[in-house]
Parts: sequence; C-alpha cells; structure tokens
Amino acid sequence: MPRGGSPPLADGCLPSNRLNPSFAGMAEPSTLYLECPDCGEFPHRILSGRFGSRRALTFQGIVKCSNCGQVRNATHQETKPVKVMFVVSILDRTSQTLTDWDPKEPLRVGGEVRLEEELYEVTRIDPSPRGRNAVFAKEVRSVWVKHLPREVEVPYSLSVRQRTVSGKLRVPTEARFGIGEVLTLPRGTALVHRIRLLGRTVRKGDAQAAQIKRLYLRAPQERART
Ligand SMILES: [Zn+2]
Repeated sequence: MPRGGSPPLADGCLPSNRLNPSFAGMAEPSTLYLECPDCGEFPHRILSGRFGSRRALTFQGIVKCSNCGQVRNATHQETKPVKVMFVVSILDRTSQTLTDWDPKEPLRVGGEVRLEEELYEVTRIDPSPRGRNAVFAKEVRSVWVKHLPREVEVPYSLSVRQRTVSGKLRVPTEARFGIGEVLTLPRGTALVHRIRLLGRTVRKGDAQAAQIKRLYLRAPQERART
C-alpha cells in the first residue's frame, strides 16, 4: 500500500466530494459513499482495510458496492470538515449554529446554502471577503444567512357579526395583502381591514406576507367595528 502523499485511486473508484457525516465524526464508519464505476454514487460496505487520519481522513481497503455488489480495492481521501458558525435568521428570529462544513466549498454573499434541508441566502461573511467573489469555509469565522422559505403561514382573525374566528392562510412568501382586498376563504369571502406588522398596524396600503403578524378580516358587507 502506498504511504504518504495522495495515493492513486484504485479500480476507478473515485472519492465522492460529498462529506460523509459518519466519516467526519470520531468513530470509524462501516460504509463509505464512493463512486462505483458501474452504477454511480452508492454506499460501499467496508470489507477490510484501514483508516489513517492526519490532515485528511484516508481509507485504504476493500469495499463492496451496496447497489451492484461488486467488490473492489478502494483508496479514499476526504478532507476534514471545518466548523463554521452560521447566524441564522428566520423571519424576525435569529439563532446561531455551529456546523461542519466542507473547507473546499466556497461561500459568497448572495449565494445560497443548505442547512438541514432548508435553503438560506448568505447575507454577510465575517471576515469580509473584501472584493473577492467567494471565500472558502476555512477562512471564515461566521456566516449570516437568511431563510428562503417558499411559503409562509399568515395568521388571521375574521370578525363575523359578533364573533371572531382565527385561522392561518398558507401563501407564497412573496404574496402581498392590501387593505380593502377581498379574500376567498373556505367559509366565504372576507375583507382585509387591518394588517398587524411587527410593532405597528397598517390601515392603508399593503404588506408582504412574510412580514405580517396578523390579518384582521371582516365580512365584506359588514362595517368595521374598529
Ligand atoms: Zn455498483
């Protein structure tokens, strides 16, 4: 077995550039994601071999493709993930999460990243890339990201005669609601007469769905009580 440097890849098995979470952790995995020459990227069961760990995580040994069953020699080298602090904004809530990131995966302001299956837009990188288009995760301390939901739920209160019922409308994030607009709800039509935003109420004009805390609705033929 070759030692030192980057050993050649055996039998056409190319390492995946996807970070394998189990490989990235402390415990040695029993499978690796590898590119099988016959069927594509699939988990490969490790039949025998050994792991090395210095700057990069390496594996040399014999693997079996979980899809076609082919057994072959494989050499696999994977870069250790780096920790990146993501400052995550979802609407008006902000939280921080320390995440394993591929050091070779570039980050750019305005670019999109995926964290736990949700899509985010990068709004700020610290330290600033300073004129460079993109930076690599290993150069980054913190990344500010904004959630990019496709749909939001807008709560509403509907006044019908002396009763008020509440519910939620599921609409595309970019949808807008305007004062005086007539909506079609399951229980009939309703007129928007007030829109509550964070810290203020709108009585004319319109607002974007993602910003709305509550829509106040009434039956179109009724007069407003407020
Ligand atoms: Zn295969």
